[in-house]
Amino acid sequence: MNKIGCSFLEEGINFDYDTVCDCCISHNDGRGLPILIENYHGEPINWDLLFEKKQERIQKQKESTIYDCEGCYHLCEYEYTNEKKLSSFHFSHCRLCNAKCIYCSKEYSKGDLNYNTYPLIKDLIEKGYYKSNGEATFQGGEPTLMQNFDELIHLFIKNGTKVRIHSNGIRYSNTVEQALKDNKGTIVISLDTANANTFKKIKRVDAFKIVCQNIKKYAKANTQNIMIKYIIVPGYNDSIKEIDNFFKLMKKLQITKVVIDMEVKYARKYDNTNISPHIYLLYDYFEAMAQKHNMELSTYSFMLYVLRNRSIEKYSKFNNKLFFMWFFNKHVQKEKNYDYVMY
Ligand code: SF4
Ligand code: SF4
Repeated sequence: MNKIGCSFLEEGINFDYDTVCDCCISHNDGRGLPILIENYHGEPINWDLLFEKKQERIQKQKESTIYDCEGCYHLCEYEYTNEKKLSSFHFSHCRLCNAKCIYCSKEYSKGDLNYNTYPLIKDLIEKGYYKSNGEATFQGGEPTLMQNFDELIHLFIKNGTKVRIHSNGIRYSNTVEQALKDNKGTIVISLDTANANTFKKIKRVDAFKIVCQNIKKYAKANTQNIMIKYIIVPGYNDSIKEIDNFFKLMKKLQITKVVIDMEVKYARKYDNTNISPHIYLLYDYFEAMAQKHNMELSTYSFMLYVLRNRSIEKYSKFNNKLFFMWFFNKHVQKEKNYDYVMY
């Protein structure tokens, strides 16, 4: 058994803005995203060459962890099968979007914004390099604006792959609704706030009401398959009041699953000044609120990375003693270790 493996190295593909990679994971200080094809914009793919490149990389990885994967939380015990098949698909190439979030790392206004991946996946299936029972993740830009979005979703579902869509929720998709109903797909919508003004400041579009309506419709289709994301943005939504109001709204919209996250490039800007000074506290409060409301909580990549480093990094300089005492008396569970806020 290889203890430094990763299924993405063998079975993963990520279509990005101008590259094809094994995965869509960016971690530590800019590592991740191992490149398979450079300067790529939707051209036909020679799958044999792609698998050769994957094999070379796997051989290196078996000897010692390659640079891109060093420190990645996806590394695990993994036995390579040596099959030439893909089962994990990520679509990160589409730069079209109907929002302008302040934390967005996409250059959504220039270049080839939206190459067509449908013929590529069709070709992969026809040539026998496709493995069912995997997952296809659509992110963005806004994936519902991707070329052939509906056709791709149907193609994957018909061929036994579940779909996951990361959307801003502004544009409603009946195809996604059907996938949720049939338990063939999930949707993750980043709302980030329960306040229309805060939404407008973060997303820089006036669409809070329509997004809430769409969330309600998706939740009605199947509440088990929708997750609402809260991306922490210092100065905008990094407060207990915002989090409290967010959970009240989630209850109202009948949401049972929530996600907490940070956008890695935005957070890392200007020597990490876009990481809230109360990040650990906010995370713990968010977790406590999810427990209180019986909601399932997922924690995404960069947030996980920051949490893993909570004992060695010093982001949580918790200077506001009054606030701390209020929080401590009201919310701290005695069995938890809160030493980190005492820096
Ligand atoms: S270990 Fe991490 S960086 Fe490497 S392929 Fe897997 S997910 Fe990507
Ligand atoms: S919804 Fe996503 S792609 Fe669109 S602006 Fe926001 S972060 Fe960027």
